[in-house]
Amino acid sequence: MEDPARAPPPPFAVHLVTGGSSSPDLSHLLHSLAAARIVAFDAEWKPRRRRAPANGDDASPAPPNPPQLPTVTVLQLSCRSEHGGSEVFVVDLLAVPLADLWPQLRDLFERPEVLKLGFRFKQDLVYLSATFTAALGCDYGFQKVEPFLDVTNVYYYLKGHDRQKRLPKETKSLATICEELLNVSLSKELQCSDWSCRPLSEGQIRYAASDAYYLLDIFDLFQQKVSTEEKCSSTTDLNSDEFCSPTVVECSSSGYSICSAGYLASIIVKYSEGILLTESDTKARSSRRKEKQKLPTDSKYKEKFDCSIEWQGPPPWDQSIGGDGLPKFLCDVMIEGLAKHLRCVGIDAATPSCRKPQPRELLNQIYKEGRILLTRDMKLLKYQYLATNQVYKVKSLLKRDQLAEVIDTFQLKISEDRLMSRCTKCNGSFIQKPLTLDEAMEASKGFQVIPSCIFNRDLEFWKCTDCNQLYWEGTQYHNAVQKFMSVCNISE
Ligand SMILES: [Zn+2]
Repeated sequence: MEDPARAPPPPFAVHLVTGGSSSPDLSHLLHSLAAARIVAFDAEWKPRRRRAPANGDDASPAPPNPPQLPTVTVLQLSCRSEHGGSEVFVVDLLAVPLADLWPQLRDLFERPEVLKLGFRFKQDLVYLSATFTAALGCDYGFQKVEPFLDVTNVYYYLKGHDRQKRLPKETKSLATICEELLNVSLSKELQCSDWSCRPLSEGQIRYAASDAYYLLDIFDLFQQKVSTEEKCSSTTDLNSDEFCSPTVVECSSSGYSICSAGYLASIIVKYSEGILLTESDTKARSSRRKEKQKLPTDSKYKEKFDCSIEWQGPPPWDQSIGGDGLPKFLCDVMIEGLAKHLRCVGIDAATPSCRKPQPRELLNQIYKEGRILLTRDMKLLKYQYLATNQVYKVKSLLKRDQLAEVIDTFQLKISEDRLMSRCTKCNGSFIQKPLTLDEAMEASKGFQVIPSCIFNRDLEFWKCTDCNQLYWEGTQYHNAVQKFMSVCNISE
């Protein structure tokens, strides 16, 4: 009724949840949550009027009462089950007893096999946590959402990640993203309507539901693209450890089969991250006001999704602070692919010596060896005291983008003669002089198979001084060099 002109009925049914634990609508919701593999979230709260600042001066006196966080009054969830069906729920948090919802919601936020989707959801989570805490007590907040995938990152991935070196600073609204990717226009008129007024209007319910619903559609596009690219990349690629590996059959025909559980698990491993609320996130502080004033007006006053810590100051290898000028990294197990890419462009990139290193071991290693820890693991970023000079959170999702991001952030100089100058398997360096075919054959005995198809080509062989792996300049080697030259902006 609010937006008659632009609203064909939405392509989905909405379940409005207003009852307590014994009501059919809440039990329907809880049942769907228990069966869900992917859940998209959004939340609404009453927009708070901010006083216009008397002047632009940050030093203006603090308000007499400490600012309070807004109360979330509507929570939207769109659930995708194992069988692919989706259901959309609009939960009226002013009607549903929060104690009846809290245990399942917290479980869902932390359940490792369920992927959570959101659009800059951290701010929603802060407010949601404050809302539950205010109603139920301080043990009833939410500390984290993991695994989580932010639709902003998905959007940039879908918009030609191969051209993106870093995520642009601009902030797109969800409406813009839906328009661009799905050709769907979301009404913005109700965004700032009073979400604490009851009953909610039909228009409000529809608007609220569509925000969560379309996140799943965007995820579907992402999943399609990921699966197409993985099929292609099984033969050509930046899979750096394959360009010289004799075990790779030149034209592998093995397609990637999309079996739901395994496939989702692989997306979770490769692309997801987590939102972790710290104590300072969950307090309304006057210092927040400063951040908020920078926000673009169409972003629902949500803070930019950003748990990251920007790099500051010289890295430990910087010659101005007595380093040797040679960049050195340690990549945690979640970004081993990046380690291999860095090695391909000649950068020293170690990986942890065991599969499940303790954070303490990683930190010891970087101290001892003067490395920077590259990670996407939120757990490691808790070590705030290290964050500004020895740990860097990699923001990009794909190896190639991650490489570009690290090169850019640390201003690494990559020259053509350093490409492929390091063992991609173990980070070792190569022997000084190349081996002849005969020497290579000898060195490979009982260890590595040199395919006979390269016998009559006049190739040089290089041996890793650490692990003895042999490398040669085959076709795949040249393809890889070409690709890395374009990633690193080296002109021919
Ligand atoms: Zn090696």
